[in-house]
Amino acid sequence: MSIKTNLTEVKSKLPNHVTLVAVSKTKPVEDLMEAYQAGQRIFGENKIQEMAEKYQQMPKDVLWHMIGNVQRNKVKYMAEFVNMIHGVDSEKLLNEINKHAKKHDRTINCLLQLKIAQEDTKFGMTSEAAHTLLNSKDFKRLENIAIVGVMGMASFTDNTTQIKEEFSALKTTFESLKNINPKLREVSMGMSGDYPLAIECGSTMVRIGSSIFGARNYVI
Ligand SMILES: *Cc1c(COP(=O)(O)O)cnc(C)c1O
Repeated sequence: MSIKTNLTEVKSKLPNHVTLVAVSKTKPVEDLMEAYQAGQRIFGENKIQEMAEKYQQMPKDVLWHMIGNVQRNKVKYMAEFVNMIHGVDSEKLLNEINKHAKKHDRTINCLLQLKIAQEDTKFGMTSEAAHTLLNSKDFKRLENIAIVGVMGMASFTDNTTQIKEEFSALKTTFESLKNINPKLREVSMGMSGDYPLAIECGSTMVRIGSSIFGARNYVI
C-alpha cells in the first residue's frame, strides 16, 4: 500500500472537525513528500533535531508539530518555525518556549500534556497541576505562547474499556480547563491503534504514524 492510499484511508475515517497530524518520526523526507503531494500539511515529529533537519528540506507551508518530550535546552532549535508543541508539562518549559518565541517575534501554540495512562512511563501533568498553571499570575504574563488545548496518551493495552476511561478523563479535564481559558479548542488524543476510540471520546486532533507511513524500524 502506498502512503497516499494509506492517507486517503485514514482520512476517510476522520470526521471533519478532527485534524490529522501525520507522525513522520524516523521516516525519510521522501516519505514525507509523498504525503505532502497527497495534500498533507501537518507533520508530527518527536525529536527536535530531526524535525529541524526536515524543516530545512520540506516546503515552507508545512506546519510542524512537536509531539515528543521537550528538553528545555533544545527549544531554541525549533522556536523559529514550530507551529504547535504538544508535550508541555511544566511552567519552566513554558517560560523557555515563551523566551525563544519572543526572540523570533512569534506566538507558539502549546498543548498541556496530561498524564492519563496508568503506566509510569507516560509523561504529563496532573489535572490539578494544569488548573493551577492556567490560574497562575506568572503564566498570564507569558505573551508569546498560546495554550490551545490538551494532549494525552492512553495506556498501551487491548483493554478498550480502560482506554476509553483514560480518553474520557482527558476530555473532562479539557472541559474544566476551558472554564478558566475559553480559548482552549484542541484535544490531541488518538494514535494508529486507538484513534477511533479517541474520536468517540471527543478528540479534535489525532496523531497517526504507522497507519500512514508503515511500521517504524525501531521503537521510539
Ligand atoms: C509515535 C507517536 C505517535 C504515532 O504513533 P503510531 O502508533 O505510529 O500512530 C503519536 N503520538 C506520539 C506522542 C508519538 O510519539
